[in-house]
Amino acid sequence: MPRETGLEDFERQATRGAALLETLRGTASVAGGFIDVLEAAAAEIVPLVHSDCSAAGPASDEAFEAYRDELLRGLREAGPLDGLLLFLHGAMTTPTRPDPEGDLLQALRGELSPDLPLMVAFDLHANLSPRCTQLCHALFGFHYSPHTDMAETGARAARCLLAKLAGRQDPRLALVKVPLVLPSIFTATSLAPLSEIVARSLALPQDVPGVIDASVFCGFAYADTPDLGFSVAVIADGDAALARREAEALAAQIWQQREALLHQGLVLGLDDGLHQARALAATSERPVVVLEHADRLNNSTWCLRRLLEDAAGLKVHCPYFWDPQVAAQAVAAGRGARIAVELGCATLERSGGVIAVEAEVLWAGHKRFIGSGPMRKGRPIDLGPSALLRFGDVSLSVVSLCTSAIDLDALEQFGVAFAELDILLLRSKTHFRAVYEPLAAAIVIVDTPDWGTADLSQLPYRHAPSDLYPLASESKTRQSVDKAPSAP
Ligand SMILES: [Zn+2]
Repeated sequence: MPRETGLEDFERQATRGAALLETLRGTASVAGGFIDVLEAAAAEIVPLVHSDCSAAGPASDEAFEAYRDELLRGLREAGPLDGLLLFLHGAMTTPTRPDPEGDLLQALRGELSPDLPLMVAFDLHANLSPRCTQLCHALFGFHYSPHTDMAETGARAARCLLAKLAGRQDPRLALVKVPLVLPSIFTATSLAPLSEIVARSLALPQDVPGVIDASVFCGFAYADTPDLGFSVAVIADGDAALARREAEALAAQIWQQREALLHQGLVLGLDDGLHQARALAATSERPVVVLEHADRLNNSTWCLRRLLEDAAGLKVHCPYFWDPQVAAQAVAAGRGARIAVELGCATLERSGGVIAVEAEVLWAGHKRFIGSGPMRKGRPIDLGPSALLRFGDVSLSVVSLCTSAIDLDALEQFGVAFAELDILLLRSKTHFRAVYEPLAAAIVIVDTPDWGTADLSQLPYRHAPSDLYPLASESKTRQSVDKAPSAP
């Protein structure tokens, strides 16, 4: 990805200290889960800093170093602590750091006493590095994608920290890497056999005495790192060998299912996909979702160009098209104006190129609201200068800050009713399913040559392991790493 995610991008979402507690308490976020459990236990919370950005280009080294140094400073100023809870995504890279989360944990460990309990919650899409297991006592991942259990994951980590501090549990962690990577589109946990693998991980603590927690991490195919791929983490009470045995068994199940996990027939080419979507929409009572999943920056124009050329009389809408230039132009022109726009100011050839077209401005202004969807409930959302544009049968909301449309806020905040559409063009990977899977007549997944293509062989990997399935047709190598038992 050519564009780095800089400090100013992260700072737009950043919150600190007392404001962090106010902003995130009761939300569907990991920090919301931390706060719920810690406050219920009357623990004293020292909130440091929280920020997140949509998946985009690599984080800048400057941004990484600024937050690392801020956390180190915060730990020094906090004085003696009983434990540390962190939420890290786990698939970040920077231009010089293939494993920034490992670097961060290493730096934090250097500031803390070696046995200070440190628990980390990670995203299901983390590309975990084996060294993470040496640097924290336990790690926890979201069980689902869409990530509807972010707060519960934070709560799992916080409960485990409290249990360790009270001497009720002695968490021992094993992490097993699986040499398999999937395009994000196939990491939807409602798709079998991934659904069965996740169900197995959820059942482990009930079925196997001594197991505290188990997480399956699917990895993130669009980060080029030596740690790319699936991992399984199991935590057992005082028994590292048990944790390792169960993690290896689950990893073996994933490896055995690798072909079925790669849903070759689920994506269609551009022409076939749009043809099928138009045909379905023409005969369905409910709208059809077209998923241009390969778009990583919400500004691809492959599908949009075709639909603008020929919407076949169908009512089409595309939310959250990321184009600050067109948004500013529409805001300057105002409601009711007709303007000539070039959609896709930052769109590269691989993302479909610029579309020159005339638009009617239906609404324009600065868009801010509080999220209501299952993943963004209670979170303040700022899209910056934004507009609702119409091009005949096709309408489009353009925004200045890059955000994925995953819930009904993306439509309703602009006065668009889902039920009145024929085709909704989305660019989410799995998160849209929590809301749109039950509402849509069908989901048609279209693959394009864009950066997030489902055909991973099209991507120029330089650092990923050479033995990853399906990049390498067969792989027999497996790396397994255990946490060295720490002193009791
Ligand atoms: Zn994720």
